[in-house]
Amino acid sequence: METVSDAIIVGGGPCGSFAALNLAKHGFNVTVFEEHEEIGIPCHCTGHLSINGLRALGLYPLPKKIVENFFYGANFHSPSGKTLSVRFSQPVTCIVNRALFDKHIAENAKKAGVQYRLNSQVKSLIIENDFVKGALVKLNGEIDDDFTAKIVVDAEGISSRILRQTGLQTLNSEMLVNAVQAEVENVKDIESDMVEVFFGKDYAPGFYAWLAPKQDGKAKVGLAAQTGNPKEFLQKLMYNHPAASRKLRTARILRTVFHPVTLGGPIPRVYFNGFLAVGDVASQVKSTTGGGVIMGMNCARIAAEVAGEALRVNDFSSNFLSKYQRRCEKILGFDMKAMLRIRKMLNAMSDKKIDYAISFCTKLGLDKTLQNVEDIDFQGKTLVHALRSPRVISVLFYLFFLHLSANP
Ligand SMILES: Cc1cc2nc3c(=O)[nH]c(=O)nc-3n(C[C@H](O)[C@H](O)[C@H](O)COP(=O)(O)OP(=O)(O)OC[C@H]3O[C@@H](n4cnc5c(N)ncnc54)[C@H](O)[C@@H]3O)c2cc1C
Repeated sequence: METVSDAIIVGGGPCGSFAALNLAKHGFNVTVFEEHEEIGIPCHCTGHLSINGLRALGLYPLPKKIVENFFYGANFHSPSGKTLSVRFSQPVTCIVNRALFDKHIAENAKKAGVQYRLNSQVKSLIIENDFVKGALVKLNGEIDDDFTAKIVVDAEGISSRILRQTGLQTLNSEMLVNAVQAEVENVKDIESDMVEVFFGKDYAPGFYAWLAPKQDGKAKVGLAAQTGNPKEFLQKLMYNHPAASRKLRTARILRTVFHPVTLGGPIPRVYFNGFLAVGDVASQVKSTTGGGVIMGMNCARIAAEVAGEALRVNDFSSNFLSKYQRRCEKILGFDMKAMLRIRKMLNAMSDKKIDYAISFCTKLGLDKTLQNVEDIDFQGKTLVHALRSPRVISVLFYLFFLHLSANP
């Protein structure tokens, strides 16, 4: 048995490393266990992040080598190929090389004193008298050893194997979508500073497809689907979607990765005695876009703050740690609920209605209204802000009508 730390973090993804960094900054001993040999590998994420979101986390500007491109907006393509363009006067998002991004956060955490144990898989939690007291870890793929800590932060990602042991509810499997992401070259007919978004139930049922060009001439293409095989949908998208096929028919796929995305909104409870859950494992992900990096890291920072307070007063009871959930809900709760509603509304809309909606938004000049939107991470608040425009109100009434007629 080794007593290593004030806090153990399960998983060296962005949420685990950011929680570790924020705890170590306050002088606590922190150990991160990461099951892979290298931080950030394998990578399954597009790394499309909002610049404001990064700035608010104190991470912007990022070192140049991490950022693969900047975007001024997006072109939204309906199932029949109609397009709504939203372009801002300055870059609003970027794509990062996720492996380098994860390594960057981990390097900062190491500089702040965090200890990383790579190739070390947390097999189970040590639970005594209903309190999490540490973890059983397979070190270097060989030896099992017990490590004790005053608090364990679970940032294991979507697998939820460790979370399950606490008895907390895991993520909503009905709202999981299977995603594929491909790196491609030889893409045609794109604006290098715009992201492309494609809708259509034949290509990405229950979600959408995306194309993000990189500055090196290659691009990341992806989609997620509630049912069916994402690999087959990707082929269909590239060859049959009226807008996507113009850009991708000649493209060559260099590599593909598959991974689920959680869209069901945060799990009902994210704390237990001596335990906090952050990031994908807690489903702290935008239900609209599946983006979990900025949301998860915001929650990771709050988790570190509450874990720090618990360490100072030596109280690791769920009663004390419930502050974590309350603080997350105060800051993100409204946005999370609004995004889940929007996702359910989009899922209920037929292709024909998405076609109408995109034409209608273009006619009403919603593209111009959206240009004034400042925050794309916190989409609930953004909606309230945008509601000041009569154009948006008309569009919302129209979308509401479409939604009602899709749910008689
Ligand atoms: C195809 C695809 C594209 C995406 N694109 C975007 C995007 O553009 N923008 C965005 O914001 N989000 C995107 N996401 C979502 C994003 O990838 C996740 O929300 C984000 O990675 C969550 O970070 P995390 O730290 O919670 O989990 P992860 O990044 O999954 O990290 C978890 C870490 O824990 C480790 N681990 C797991 N179990 C154990 C264990 N028992 N012991 C030790 N280590 C363990 C894993 O090896 C991993 O390193 C995408 C997801 C997919 C699938």
